[in-house]
Amino acid sequence: MDRNRDEGEARESAVRSLAELPKAHLHLHFTGSMRHATLLELAERDGHHLPDALVEDWPPTLSAADEKGWFRFQRLYDVARSVLRTEDDVRRLVHEAAEDDRRDGGRWLEIQVDPSGYAAKFGGITAFTDLVLDAVREASRDVGIGMAVVIAANRTRHPMDARTLARLAAQYADRGVVGFGLSNDERRGSTRDFAPAFRIAERAGLLLDPHGGELLGPESIRVCVEDLHAQRLGHGVRAAEDPDLLDLIVSRGIALEVCPVSNVALGVYTDLSSVPLPDLMAAGATIALGADDPLLFGSQLAGQYATMRAAHDLTDTQLADLARSSFQASRAPETDKQRWLGEIDEWLGRMAP
Ligand SMILES: [Zn+2]
Repeated sequence: MDRNRDEGEARESAVRSLAELPKAHLHLHFTGSMRHATLLELAERDGHHLPDALVEDWPPTLSAADEKGWFRFQRLYDVARSVLRTEDDVRRLVHEAAEDDRRDGGRWLEIQVDPSGYAAKFGGITAFTDLVLDAVREASRDVGIGMAVVIAANRTRHPMDARTLARLAAQYADRGVVGFGLSNDERRGSTRDFAPAFRIAERAGLLLDPHGGELLGPESIRVCVEDLHAQRLGHGVRAAEDPDLLDLIVSRGIALEVCPVSNVALGVYTDLSSVPLPDLMAAGATIALGADDPLLFGSQLAGQYATMRAAHDLTDTQLADLARSSFQASRAPETDKQRWLGEIDEWLGRMAP
């Protein structure tokens, strides 16, 4: 392409609002979506003592370079989860997550939850799932954003627990649950052992969406693809280290949920310009940028696009491609997708102010 035209486009890109760019959010954890102010308010209400990292030192300094670092991250997540006590707390969290995404240009949100982490307080995994799905329907209607749920198993627990969750997710397929995932420290547990759970989800027609290729490299992605039949990968960003694997992912249409701010916060990459988004884009990967856990990383949906625009000098055309790709990777209804893709064209067609 003509160099002058490239430069002209790059200049323009500094002014179109990314909060107005329609997009889908496909990597957001339940408690991780909580507003920091809400965490403080709920903790205060119940006399919960929060660690400094969640109060005056927020957002916390994290690193997952070793298991100890991950444990610290997980412990903060568990502390935050413990402030959710009532049904109204759950409804509030979902409503605010929907509002925050809507404000950031979100049109569709797939929120990820492991019901077993909330079961004890909310009457079991089925009762909690019913509550979340009801909260999602309510928030979707009130805020004006499409929403669905991905049920995720925890890889540090027994694979039998994952099968129980897969059966639960299958029961709710077509009733608000669109996918089945696998999360927590990739270095723990054997991914292969979760294949039977993923077969249950596969038979139910759910999207297969495990985390992989974040803390571990290409080999962990191969197992997700070959053994779990992953159709989308939580992170998967480290496919960039293996061109053959990246080709395979692209040829199979496996989408990547790339979470740049999370990657830097957890030490997967040293800085935002090291997140290999341009390599993934150049290979033709289907990508959806995601915030992962705004509560712990201090950055939300539009922030992912803004940081990547700044770190990699992305043009508005490239940012629009990323947003289109986020809808393509989603389980949103086809007619909605087409409408939102049209809105992206309108965004791009607008004169930069
Ligand atoms: Zn995640």
